[in-house]
Amino acid sequence: MSETTALLDRIQADPETGRAIPDAATGETIGYVPKQTADDVDAAVARAQAAQPAWDALGHEGRRAALLAAADAIDAHAEELATILSREQGKPLNGPNARFEVGACSTWLRDAATTELETEVLVDDGETYAEMSYQALGVVAAIGPWNWPMMIGMWQSAPSLRMGNTVVAKPSSSTPLSVLALIDVMNQALPADVLIPVVTNGAGGGHLAAHPDVAKVMFTGSTETGRRIAESAGGNLARLTLELGGNDAGIVLPDVDPQAIAEDLFWGAFINTGQTCAALKRLYVHEDVYDDVVDAVAAVARQVPMGNGLDEGNVLGPVQNAAQFEIVQELVEDAKARGARIVVGGEAAPELGANFFQTTIVAEVADGYRIVDEEQFGPALPIIRYSDIDEAVASANRLDVGLGGSVWSGDREKAREIAKRLRAGTVWINQHGTLHPKVPFGGVKQSGYGLEFSVAGLKSVSEPRVING
Ligand code: NDP
Repeated sequence: MSETTALLDRIQADPETGRAIPDAATGETIGYVPKQTADDVDAAVARAQAAQPAWDALGHEGRRAALLAAADAIDAHAEELATILSREQGKPLNGPNARFEVGACSTWLRDAATTELETEVLVDDGETYAEMSYQALGVVAAIGPWNWPMMIGMWQSAPSLRMGNTVVAKPSSSTPLSVLALIDVMNQALPADVLIPVVTNGAGGGHLAAHPDVAKVMFTGSTETGRRIAESAGGNLARLTLELGGNDAGIVLPDVDPQAIAEDLFWGAFINTGQTCAALKRLYVHEDVYDDVVDAVAAVARQVPMGNGLDEGNVLGPVQNAAQFEIVQELVEDAKARGARIVVGGEAAPELGANFFQTTIVAEVADGYRIVDEEQFGPALPIIRYSDIDEAVASANRLDVGLGGSVWSGDREKAREIAKRLRAGTVWINQHGTLHPKVPFGGVKQSGYGLEFSVAGLKSVSEPRVING
């Protein structure tokens, strides 16, 4: 029996009572997950609540040691985890995909485990002494998406655990096996009940968010669900971090070398086959370099292999699920019907397997096209021509979301000046979507609120306490 099969067998539910989970590329059943109910959610919260005081009492040193041991366990099982993730989510093993995601889980966990959150001395002037320190909140609910199910789950649980909270994690119904596998491996090193998965549907997620014993909800997913979670959590005034959808704009200035930036533009848009919250989703290019940039990005797109993720040759995969595939197809068809130019791709690719859509570059589009205004969340990039930088900045800022943005230029200072005019949580220069565990990440406007990563991320999963006197 392979190690991947052994791990799958350990986390699987009985096929008689469980729900079958398909391989995203082939449709074949990978395994079964339990169908848990509101009662199971209540039981998980009760167990997490009971385990929290002892976990907190371990102190920073004790928790750090346990979390670092959990990171070692992830590293030791990295290939099995990547294989399950690749099959369930669809992302290839190779490239910035499944192995990369498992590696990021261990990197972010180690960083959360070792980042210090010092007590802040606020005033110490001989008359007044006041300090602020950060304590555990209690039970954190971690509700995750299907695009980077392990990594985003880790972004939610690692800082929460580090600060002495216990976690109940609800994965997306589209990718529960990946999260069950990751938690199973982590739990080889963690005390019982500090990190508990619940495999339930959206209604079960609502029940979890509204639970009176949940002190904080960490959520990544759509803006619409984020609003529902804010309502559910409102009754209890549970704290919230909401990382919601985006429609990131990139602005390319006329002074770029199109060949030199083409590959980074491509991966900014197509990482994880475009299914990334902070991917480049609409690209505004100055008319002087428009044709050259379109051609250079299209040339990269033609060369990047797409197919079944277990084949080491592939670095792009399918759209994870049929509902998302239909959104991508509909937006591309709408652009075609309105006269846009399909430079590369533009069609479904059923010969590759379930829910494959060709790598697609759409040119001669404008604001007001659905593929520009709506989040495509898949392998299709619209490239828009502009002539005036003020108009490009206005276009970038005109939507109600603001997760990321980017400016591309040969002159870094000029790019920084334009970056300051973009309303987004992160603006990258000559890159898009790169993340670092020491650099806080979060959205503005309808892309949500609250910061993740680093010291800011630790503060967001704890409660401040001032001691004055
Ligand atoms: P959702 O926002 O619907 O789902 C995200 C998570 O929330 C899932 O675990 C889901 O559970 C859960 N959920 C659903 N309803 C509720 C509720 N009422 N209360 C609490 N939790 C709930 O995203 P989808 O998967 O449906 O994707 C829809 C769109 O969201 C995509 O088209 C994409 O545009 C965007 N998206 C953005 C992501 C990002 O990283 N910002 C990631 C994924 C999607 P369940 O799966 O069981 O319904």
